[in-house]
Amino acid sequence: MTVSPDPEARTFRAEIRQLLHILVHSLYTDREIFLRELISNASDALNRLQFLMLTEREVRDPDLELAIRIKGDPETRTLTISDSGLGMLRDELIENLGTIAHSGAAAFLQSLQEGQKVSDLIGQFGVGFYSVFMVAEEVRVTSLSYRPDAAAYTWVATGGDDYTVEPAERAERGTTLQIKLKEDAKEFAELWRLRDVVHKHSDFVSYPIYLGDESQAANRQTALWREASHKITDEAANDFYKQLTLDFDPPLARIHLNTDAPVQISALLFIPAKPDRGLFSLRKETGLKLYSRKILIQEYAKDLLPNYLRFIEGVVESEDVPLSVSRETAQTSRVMERIKNALTHKVIDSLKELAAKQADNYTKFWKAYGLFLKEGLATDPQARERLTPLLRFHSSQPGGDESLASLADYAGRMRPEQRAIYYILGDDVRSVAHSPHLDYFRKEKLEVLCLVDPLDSFMLAGLQSYEGYPLKSVDDPALELPRPAAEEDQAEAVPSGEFDALVARFKEQLGDRIADVRATDRLVDNALRLVSPDTSRGHEMDRVRRMLEKDFTVPQKVVELNRHHPLIKNLAGRVASGDNPELVNTVIEQLYESALLVEGLLPNPASMVGRIQKLMEEATRR
Ligand code: ADP
Repeated sequence: MTVSPDPEARTFRAEIRQLLHILVHSLYTDREIFLRELISNASDALNRLQFLMLTEREVRDPDLELAIRIKGDPETRTLTISDSGLGMLRDELIENLGTIAHSGAAAFLQSLQEGQKVSDLIGQFGVGFYSVFMVAEEVRVTSLSYRPDAAAYTWVATGGDDYTVEPAERAERGTTLQIKLKEDAKEFAELWRLRDVVHKHSDFVSYPIYLGDESQAANRQTALWREASHKITDEAANDFYKQLTLDFDPPLARIHLNTDAPVQISALLFIPAKPDRGLFSLRKETGLKLYSRKILIQEYAKDLLPNYLRFIEGVVESEDVPLSVSRETAQTSRVMERIKNALTHKVIDSLKELAAKQADNYTKFWKAYGLFLKEGLATDPQARERLTPLLRFHSSQPGGDESLASLADYAGRMRPEQRAIYYILGDDVRSVAHSPHLDYFRKEKLEVLCLVDPLDSFMLAGLQSYEGYPLKSVDDPALELPRPAAEEDQAEAVPSGEFDALVARFKEQLGDRIADVRATDRLVDNALRLVSPDTSRGHEMDRVRRMLEKDFTVPQKVVELNRHHPLIKNLAGRVASGDNPELVNTVIEQLYESALLVEGLLPNPASMVGRIQKLMEEATRR
């Protein structure tokens, strides 16, 4: 490779030019975050170097202190930021700072097009290195790579469309940014201002940041996770969380673990207030930061928690993790498995504690993350026992929609002779309340759990019983229910002869759309209900199919009739007298479709409208 001695001019990639144009011309008051971005790059460069040193024998200046140095000179309006990280070759300067497609830049420009304000975006987005052009007239990046045979180069840009690269003099490994500040940004050459920004945004960077000629680091650098629990204040933990994630809402809960057995672990984990990691989060993927002996081994370690706990953010350090963790060895995976077990236990225990001590916060947690736990229950057989106590349900028990019941709450309220936990599946609490399957339960004041979340059908696959009580759907026709609390007079039933004729009529009218027609004593206020012919294969799978299959066909159900209901009696009377057969057929159709609707199985509810109108016409005739 030949290198020209003169500065070589090059042009930025198009999207970078666009980004630079916006940043150079933005008048943004919170532009101090450029320093956070540059320090974060320096810290990354140090991390990567440390990681490299585990395997590379030939590294330039192996004994150089791993640190970041920041100096300002108000006289000349310059700011200098140096690191002893891995440095860059000439081609890397060109690639990394001029050519590479930055996902951050693209997302930034995209959000701008969607109408977000520049100022909001810069504040929350790291636009990385380029944010320096909010404060700089000129930036000179001089770098010497860790590779022993590398030469130093300087990259220079002023925020225009072009930049240059030229050979440079530099003795030590690392990167230095020399920034000529804009007139209106000269405050960033002042020591007090720099100290202020470092405290605010970069306190937990794990390498020392030296300001000016000071020999004491300006950042606290503490590995907060290694401290004793009682020494970690809410304030420090929340600052730490914010610097880790850039989430502006404080976390819902934090979990701290410091243990030596069976593996050494120090972990500081957080449950974010909201489950969706925003576009602006510093954490681009799920996973925990994994350190071993103060070295960052993985930025997004995904094997340290089960998948259903992937919403948790935080840091884990373990001396027992071999530094060569990226090589898959039996030893590594054994250690990782142990850490995962310990962390999982700790998280579940902490959630139980939250539920016991801070019910309101637990409800918030459940609303945000209940789905994840249900997913765990459905997909991870090992997790069932652990997760079951954490579940919460809407319940038919007085207390309204808002109060959520645990299975333990339910079990505590069961009638002495009750042998099962009853649930009903539906689309929402209000529509479920009208279900005919609840007639008997309402009358007898038997509590029923309302499973109204789309995931509930899947969850039931992993939740068959609790404390020996099976979970049973209220539409299971084979259900054995406690006897009525009091014997009461029921309205007279349709005589069997008339009833048999009515059953025949239902069968004739509904044909092979249904499996059977029969009487039931489970209904009180309703005339009719639909149940599954095969009790082993519950109703829940019908709902799953309706959600998943495009051309879902309505399953054949058994029609159960309430022989005491006035409507059934009237209808039986009409059939017996042979009076107005067309009306009888219309009523049968409408009863059937209403029942499908209540079950959430009617493909086209609008089809009812014409029929209902006909029935109203009939009813209002004088
Ligand atoms: P990001 O850090 O999000 O990748 P940046 O625009 O901040 O994006 O930086 C682009 C790339 O330039 C980095 O990925 C890194 O490879 C390189 N880089 C930036 N600063 C340094 C530095 N101080 N030392 C070594 N490499 C750096």
